[in-house]
Amino acid sequence: MDAPTTLPDSWDEAADVVVVGLGAAGFAASVTAHELGDDVLILEKAPEGEEGGNTRVAGQGYLNTSNPESAEAYLTALCGPYKVPEVMIRTWSEEMCRNNDWLASLGADPQEHQHQPVGIEFPELPGSDCVHKFHDGPTYGYSLTWKRFESLVKERPIRILYETPGKGLIQNGGTGEIVGVRAIRDGKTIAVKARKAVVLTCGGFENNQEMIRDYLPDLPYCYTSGSPYNEGDGVSMALAVGADLWHMNNYAGPTMAFKAEEIATTFSMQAFHFSKELPGGAIAVGPDGKRFTDEKYKNRHGKVPLHGTWKKMPTPCPMHMIFDHAHMTAAPLWDATPRHGWTQIIEKYEWSADNSAELEKGWIKSADTVEGLAELIGLDGAALADTVARWNAGCDAGADPEYGRSLMLNPIAEAPYYAIEMSPSMLNTQGGPRRNENAQIVRPGGAPIPRLYSAGELGSIYSYLYQGTGNIGECLAFGRIAGRNAAAEQAWDGN
Ligand SMILES: Cc1cc2nc3c(=O)[nH]c(=O)nc-3n(C[C@H](O)[C@H](O)[C@H](O)COP(=O)(O)OP(=O)(O)OC[C@H]3O[C@@H](n4cnc5c(N)ncnc54)[C@H](O)[C@@H]3O)c2cc1C
Repeated sequence: MDAPTTLPDSWDEAADVVVVGLGAAGFAASVTAHELGDDVLILEKAPEGEEGGNTRVAGQGYLNTSNPESAEAYLTALCGPYKVPEVMIRTWSEEMCRNNDWLASLGADPQEHQHQPVGIEFPELPGSDCVHKFHDGPTYGYSLTWKRFESLVKERPIRILYETPGKGLIQNGGTGEIVGVRAIRDGKTIAVKARKAVVLTCGGFENNQEMIRDYLPDLPYCYTSGSPYNEGDGVSMALAVGADLWHMNNYAGPTMAFKAEEIATTFSMQAFHFSKELPGGAIAVGPDGKRFTDEKYKNRHGKVPLHGTWKKMPTPCPMHMIFDHAHMTAAPLWDATPRHGWTQIIEKYEWSADNSAELEKGWIKSADTVEGLAELIGLDGAALADTVARWNAGCDAGADPEYGRSLMLNPIAEAPYYAIEMSPSMLNTQGGPRRNENAQIVRPGGAPIPRLYSAGELGSIYSYLYQGTGNIGECLAFGRIAGRNAAAEQAWDGN
């Protein structure tokens, strides 16, 4: 929907600050603006109970850095050659140290759950000792942080319109100011007036396959383990009013996961989890029937080391996990324990204990020989048989000469043999409209679009490497900045 330049004759809803999307960033922006005395309205695409976006199903860690100096050094190093303006790095560094105090000031109870050095994703980089991750609550578990964020919104008179997606920004043609949002409610377009400002916090484009193909490198498709409601709407809305974009090629992934056609989000296979040692043999192969990676490597949110640098893990699609009967009968291929992920927490798919229901559905294919299995999944039989033979020889010798895998070195030995298709999967995208240190969305050239702000993974600061928990930490930091600056605007209609 293009931004109309004439104002509507009448408004269906109005507020001082209109926040589009209720995840961590929407929480921080709306509560901040409300604390400053503003009337805040949140437009949320999902129905009640499915709001919260990726934040709702995340691992619930948020970053609170220990001091601005080392935080600045660490973020600068994380960006590497994908430079981010110094003023943005400084703003991020200063604000990220305040996350914990801010939540405590609202009555939350942040407690540290940092397991040194595991939680520091790139300990070798300067400033990495700034990393302190927090969960709100005494134990690590499902959605503690989100539950606190949600209650902090809902205990205030902040209105939330569910199932009301923002579709376009309303721009004053004369001044270029953003004065409202066009949204869809009950199938009809409504005009929502923002007397002071609009804050876009509607997440990334992890469910928009066209944007994935256009913006993410080397991906014909990719699926998410997060919210299916994040479809890149914020990118389209901001583009339509002249915004610049940044970090569109960066995302938290890929990993390999199973994607069933009838379920919107992904299933990650236990066999490929770096910390699991399960019986039976399991490898991944590409369309040529050959392996392409150490399947058990603990990648850094999708990045793997290559020639002294970090690159995305290769994902030659379609990929297949090939495994034997010992693995098939050892455990469910997918771990349904609801720790994080949309499929576990919202979808609540019940994977059968012996994988038989998924075999029955045709998600898993089976054959008595490796060549027969290859035929079923459209691979060259001789190539797959050769791959399996070489993998098995490596297991016998106690080494993986091709990719150096050291975990689950179990041969694919026991017939029948099985295959399940793997797709590239991600947690979230980082790209979106470029923002400045005031959380304003800017045009190419850097001029802010008046009265338009953003926070969160929609145009995140992360340009290259990513520190786990950094997204929610950033949501809180830039959400507060957006909320403060939106509240500081003078109402354009004089009210
Ligand atoms: C499985 C998983 C684990 C993760 N673990 C962590 C972790 O532990 N720590 C960490 O920092 N990060 C983690 N991440 C990443 C992190 O969750 C996200 O980057 C972050 O929560 C994004 O917050 P957000 O507020 O920007 O967007 P979201 O939390 O995704 O919220 C966006 C909201 O906008 C709504 N929306 C979308 N389009 C519209 C529209 N047009 N109009 C109105 N509303 C709209 C959505 O329904 C949603 O409610 C994880 C992600 C996943 C998927």
